[in-house]
Amino acid sequence: MARRLAAVSVDLDAIHHYFAIHGLVSAGYDLDRAYDRALERMSAWAESRRIPLTLFAVGEDLERDGAARLVGVLADRGHAVENHSYSHRYDLTRLDPATIRSEIEAGSKAIERVTGRKPTGFRAPGYTVNDALFDALDEAAVAFDSSVFPCPAYYFAKAAAMGGMRLRGRESRSVLDTPRVLTAPRSPYRPGARWSDPAGKSRRFVELPVQVTRGARLPFIGTMLGVVGARASARLARACVGEPLVNLELHAIDFLDASEGLSTLAPYQPELRVPLAARMAALDAALDVLAEGGHAFVRLDEAARAFA
Ligand SMILES: [Zn+2]
Repeated sequence: MARRLAAVSVDLDAIHHYFAIHGLVSAGYDLDRAYDRALERMSAWAESRRIPLTLFAVGEDLERDGAARLVGVLADRGHAVENHSYSHRYDLTRLDPATIRSEIEAGSKAIERVTGRKPTGFRAPGYTVNDALFDALDEAAVAFDSSVFPCPAYYFAKAAAMGGMRLRGRESRSVLDTPRVLTAPRSPYRPGARWSDPAGKSRRFVELPVQVTRGARLPFIGTMLGVVGARASARLARACVGEPLVNLELHAIDFLDASEGLSTLAPYQPELRVPLAARMAALDAALDVLAEGGHAFVRLDEAARAFA
């Protein structure tokens, strides 16, 4: 039997990115303090579970000393810090090739400055990829990308939310992927010239898709687990057990409670309407199922080597 792997990654988006994507103003809250608290909690949680994390950091966020210090400490504790672009532009794939390259390079340099290690992997803002971005990742010689989220439920929910915002006359900063994402592979693959094509194998890096379940391709991500609760999270996890890699994606905000300055966001981020303790219980329930199912927890750079 092939080895069963699992990886927990956390996108370290600073909290102000959420206010931006929903077109909200964050006046009056100390969002930096909330962010630092999220990272400290995340670190303690990983230690209690004895799992290594893969952290996708936004280069620009590391210009704040407090964030840089915390991310440096996390790297020293053995967690991998990978590249989530320099400025987290949701329209990254719509930029010209030179700007896409500089978003990747500047993000990578900012992370290397803080951790002393050059990132080997990339995750695109908002899960949005295209062939131009994959070209740039090939040029940057990454070992892996982990951005493809082949999830119909997410795709249609995002399309509906963006349509709703337009109807209300508000502008969303999200970019909708092509429907190709719906049929993209759900297990690690080496992409072809077309990013969703596993047969071409012309890229030098591996794609480690964000996890969806077998069958209905339901999202197996922190946001979903928090909303559905512990029992349903365990069920979702069982629909992933046995996969070569279970790639569970979380966000720093998953470690915060709405009462910690985020109540304005709660109407837009359903998971924030669930108390933090309940969300953590759901997350633990899902990880317990994966551990009992024989999955070994690794960093995504280690997983990438296993599937290279
Ligand atoms: Zn992000």
